[in-house]
Amino acid sequence: MKLLRVGPAGQEKPALLDASGMPRDLSAHIDDVSGDALSDESFARLRQLDPESLPTLPSDARIGPCVGHVGKFICIGLNYADHAAEAGMALPEEPVIFFKATSAIVGPNDDVEIPRGSVKTDWEVELGVVIGKPAKYISEAEALDHVAGYCVVNDLSERDFQLHRSGQWVKGKSADTFGPIGPWLVTRDEVTDPQDLPMYLEVNGTRFQDGSTRTMHFSVATVVSHLSQFMSLQPGDVISTGTPPGVGMGQKPEQYLQTGDSMVLGIRGLGVQRQRVVAS
Ligand code: ZN
Repeated sequence: MKLLRVGPAGQEKPALLDASGMPRDLSAHIDDVSGDALSDESFARLRQLDPESLPTLPSDARIGPCVGHVGKFICIGLNYADHAAEAGMALPEEPVIFFKATSAIVGPNDDVEIPRGSVKTDWEVELGVVIGKPAKYISEAEALDHVAGYCVVNDLSERDFQLHRSGQWVKGKSADTFGPIGPWLVTRDEVTDPQDLPMYLEVNGTRFQDGSTRTMHFSVATVVSHLSQFMSLQPGDVISTGTPPGVGMGQKPEQYLQTGDSMVLGIRGLGVQRQRVVAS
């Protein structure tokens, strides 16, 4: 299933994408694409529904972030060998973990704001993992059973704030609009192999990132198991698993987003995001 949230910001309705690509209203069946609605039991109930019997929602309506009430927005740094190289950093021995503020989350096609004082706003296409079942001290073998599904994430990053403003990376990762997620939460049964997903990102029509989750250093299962040794994971938590090479910081010369730029990014089977860059 492809689940999404449709409507104005803060008033999104839960929806299911039907075979023809039309959003169908799930409001009568779940309150939101969040929390308990992400469990295997909930998905089994939704699969019993005939999509044709559900009310349609306007196909041109705004698409919101594909998960509501995200409790934790966890990111993995330097998780692609070729990206670590372009960033001039060593490949870590254990997953590098950082957080983005959940207030950064927006819909997949919402405008992205360049924060005040920014000179280095950068892009990062990433595979997002949405937790569906609580996870605490779980093994790699059982890790994917705790995943509800997958989505596209753009882990926008202000490199100067991230690397030169002291403390943790969180300063450069958390500005409003720095976390577009969606368009869809694709349930894990539809993603045969999360380690074989081509992904790309274009700025103003030029392809900068052209990678695959095949070159991920720590797999999704490793990352979920590893995180669960340090914190419990809850339904609706989103993990962004790192970016392949081709970010602006890796260009020679470095290249960053400017007001008026447009981004298009996608992952095979998980949909496409389109953002316009505006001033904050
Ligand atoms: Zn990232």
